[in-house]
Amino acid sequence: MEGRMTYGETIARLLDAAGPAAPAATEGPAHACGAGVLQKEQSQRPPIDAVALRYALERNEINAHFQPQFDLQTDQVCGVEALARWHHPHFGPVAPEQFVPLAEANGLIADLTRTIMSQALQEAVTATAAGHALSVSLNLSPMLLESPELSEELGSVAQQHGVPAGRITFEITERAMLPELAVALGALTRLRLRGFGLSLDDYGTGRSSLRQLTRIPFSEIKIDRSLVHGAHQHQEQRARLRAAIQIADELGVRTVAEGVEDFRDRQLIRHYGCARAQGWLFKAALSGTELMEWLAAYNGRHPAG
Ligand code: C2E
Ligand code: CA
Ligand code: CA
Repeated sequence: MEGRMTYGETIARLLDAAGPAAPAATEGPAHACGAGVLQKEQSQRPPIDAVALRYALERNEINAHFQPQFDLQTDQVCGVEALARWHHPHFGPVAPEQFVPLAEANGLIADLTRTIMSQALQEAVTATAAGHALSVSLNLSPMLLESPELSEELGSVAQQHGVPAGRITFEITERAMLPELAVALGALTRLRLRGFGLSLDDYGTGRSSLRQLTRIPFSEIKIDRSLVHGAHQHQEQRARLRAAIQIADELGVRTVAEGVEDFRDRQLIRHYGCARAQGWLFKAALSGTELMEWLAAYNGRHPAG
């Protein structure tokens, strides 16, 4: 029998299985993205800046919404991913793809992360009280890994809300450039030692620089929708998807597929042994109030066996 691989080998093989960098998928059901579409999207972006963002954070205009995650074996809701939503009083909704980079570039990302984490953990407490024990996934900007106090700060937010670290997973995208390896490794290892889960987000969009991540003890990989969406129709994509799930499985790293929009892709990932999934086929992100109503109705229809 083949010996157990180290985390370094795991991640190196995962990165290899994903192949070369894939173009970032666009939001929404239509994936067409010609120059004209891009120009139109950019011109439709509201003219927000760091001052507006700081003001929005102070006035609680930015809120956590929650996309349910499903156990593919049982169809039970097992967790939620918290996603930041900003509804500007004049411009309406502002996309995270616009304001998250703005927060990163203007020293506001720690504030944004704290806001979303606090709201998400508050919601987890409410859900638990109503009988829905959910895990919570939070997006963590790679930039924050440079802060030596990160794990202590996140640990104390979890403690303030009374949510055990084991129910919280931080997702770190492989799309972005990471800080220097030693720095990132230190921060991530400290988070893991505190008992938090760590997820390699957007897996399959990898840049070669992220090969440096090979020593990080991930507990989960989150397979990007560019590998998942339409896999039932494309043989090469299917092979890469299957390889990723197999390797993660071999190493005891949980797999979550994101961007599941089609029941045939869902059948495929379940057949390949993927543990969890999220996507518009199941449910898009909901506000806290909507989530509680939806959970009650869903769990009523799908009682735990
Ligand atoms: P992500 O972490 O990869 O989050 C998944 C994105 O895919 C979300 O977009 C979600 O609404 C969207 N999505 C969910 N299901 C489907 C589906 O079936 N098909 C398709 N095409 N899309 C689906 P969203 O909310 O616009 O967020 C975009 C990105 O912004 C996130 O990507 C994440 O990288 C970042 N982001 C969002 N909230 C936060 C936050 O609180 N902190 C940080 N650092 N980043 C955040
Ligand atoms: Ca994510
Ligand atoms: Ca993702």
